Amino acid sequence: MSAAADAGSRLGLMLTELRLPTVRRLAESICAQSDREGWPALRLLQALLEHEIAEREARRIDRHRAESQLGADKRLASFDFAAVPSVSKAQVMALTEATEWLDRGANVLLFGPPGVGKTHLIAGIGHALIDAGRRVLFTRCSELVQRLQAARRDLRLPAELAKLDRFDLLILDDLSYVRRDQAETSVLFELIAERCERHSLTITANTPLSQWGEVFVEPAMMLAAIDRLVHHSTILETNVESHRRRAATCARGWRPGRGPAPPPPQTRRVRRTRPEPRP
Ligand code: ADP
Ligand code: MG
Repeated sequence: MSAAADAGSRLGLMLTELRLPTVRRLAESICAQSDREGWPALRLLQALLEHEIAEREARRIDRHRAESQLGADKRLASFDFAAVPSVSKAQVMALTEATEWLDRGANVLLFGPPGVGKTHLIAGIGHALIDAGRRVLFTRCSELVQRLQAARRDLRLPAELAKLDRFDLLILDDLSYVRRDQAETSVLFELIAERCERHSLTITANTPLSQWGEVFVEPAMMLAAIDRLVHHSTILETNVESHRRRAATCARGWRPGRGPAPPPPQTRRVRRTRPEPRP
C-alpha cells in the first residue's frame, strides 16, 4: 500500500472512531478542492465540520419526524388557508416561527366541525415545529387514553406519563372520540393535569369547550381540565363548510358562486369563558 493510501485509510479509521461519518465521506473530495483552490488550512477544517454539523442536524430532524407519527402529507404548504377564513394564517405562521411558547408550556386548542382540516392544520404545525428543531408527538386522543389506561392497570402510569415529557408538544387529535367513561376521562384528566404548565399540549375537538360535558363524566373534572388548558392557550377555530363535503359538491358540478349552494353546515361558536356545569 502506498504511503498516501495508508494515511487515507488511517484517517478514515480515526474519523469513524470520532463518529464523523460526513467528514469521512467528504474528506477526499473537499481536500482535493482545497488543494486545487489553495484554501488556508482553517477554511478546509471549517468546511468539513460545517458539513458534519449540517448532516447531523438533518438526521436529527428525520428521527424526530419518524417518531412524531405525523401524517407525511399534512403540511402547511398544502393547507388552503383561504378555505378557512376563521383561522389567521399569520397567527399560525407566528406559532411555527417563534417557538418559545413551547418553553412556556403554552397550549393550542383547535375546534371545528368534522372535515374542515383540523387534523391537517395541526399536523402541518407539528411538521413546521419539527423543522424548527422541536420534538412533537401526534396521537389520536382515544388511542393515547387507552394506552395510559393500560399503564395505570399495570401500575406504570407515572412512568408512561414521564415518557411523554421528552416531547415539546403533544398533539391529542379528536378529543370528541374519547368514550364518556369514568376511567377513560380520569386518565385523560391526569395527563392534562400532569402536563399543563410544564409542557405544551394541543387538543383538537369537534365539540367546543361548552360541550365538553359530553366527554367528561364529572363536571368538576371537566372544569378543572378546561381551566388548566385555556390558561396560556391559543384557540383556533375552523368553522367553515366541510372541505370533504365541498370537494364532493364540487365534484357534482357545484362551484361557489354558481347557482344555489348546498345548505350551510351547522356551525358552533366556541365560548371562551368557562361553561356552566351541566345539571
Ligand atoms: P378534520 O380533522 O377537521 O375532520 P381533516 O384535516 O381530516 O379534517 O380534513 C379532511 C380532508 O380534507 C383531509 O384530507 C385534509 O387534508 C383535507 N382538507 C381539509 N381542509 C383543508 C384545507 N383548508 N386545505 C387543504 N386540505 C384540506
Ligand atoms: Mg380530524
